[in-house]
Amino acid sequence: MKGRIFTCNPLVQTVGPGLRFHIVLQGCTLTCHHCTIPGSWNYFGGTEVTIDELLSQIEPHLESYRSSGGGITISGGEPMLQAPFVIELFKQCHSRWSLHTVLDTAGFSLLDFTKPLLTVTDLLIFNLKTFDEQKHIELTGHSNQSMLYFAETAAEIGVPIHVKHVIIPGLTDDENELRSIGQWIAQIRTFEKLIIESYDPNCVMRWNELGLISPLHAHHPSSPKQNALAEQIIQDAINQSLQT
Ligand code: SF4
Repeated sequence: MKGRIFTCNPLVQTVGPGLRFHIVLQGCTLTCHHCTIPGSWNYFGGTEVTIDELLSQIEPHLESYRSSGGGITISGGEPMLQAPFVIELFKQCHSRWSLHTVLDTAGFSLLDFTKPLLTVTDLLIFNLKTFDEQKHIELTGHSNQSMLYFAETAAEIGVPIHVKHVIIPGLTDDENELRSIGQWIAQIRTFEKLIIESYDPNCVMRWNELGLISPLHAHHPSSPKQNALAEQIIQDAINQSLQT
């Protein structure tokens, strides 16, 4: 089976626990304002690889993954667009080496593949762009309803979930919006961790390289203080929701 990849790196530390083989898949239907890899959007771009080629790149590093508590992480682009490929790769990693699998996604959902993919996923990193549906459409070009459903389905299946939210001042840090995120997280029973990040200002340059103008060209990333405040608001809303 073949898939299309944007990049792959055998030893990455920032995409789940431990050291990880990190694949960024080609193809995405969203157009997030803060996207740092617009070059991954075209489904027909990137490089074609087989499952066996990837497995042979993973194998030499197995000891590093085991000793660090790591594994394999698939990001996008949007992994769901190549769901059969991801499912087969995760299955092979499980059956050959019991390798821990992480799916790092905005949760774009294709109903036929959602459950089969989640059942071979050991950890979901769910990128919640924003909670309000209309704002989500403005920020990414798509509704978030099927994405929230994707995360809720993962929780039903029992997949542990890390929720990542990128702060874009003036766009994704509204206090009511952050509270809504916390209230939603409180009913995700497999929720484990909240990750709050600033957007990467290099996104503006990446869009320019493709002849595009980033919607964030006149913005500035959030400060650590702004991130901490956002995290506190979400955490407080989670705690309050769990008490009622
Ligand atoms: S989902 Fe990821 S790859 Fe797709 S546009 Fe958003 S940030 Fe970029």
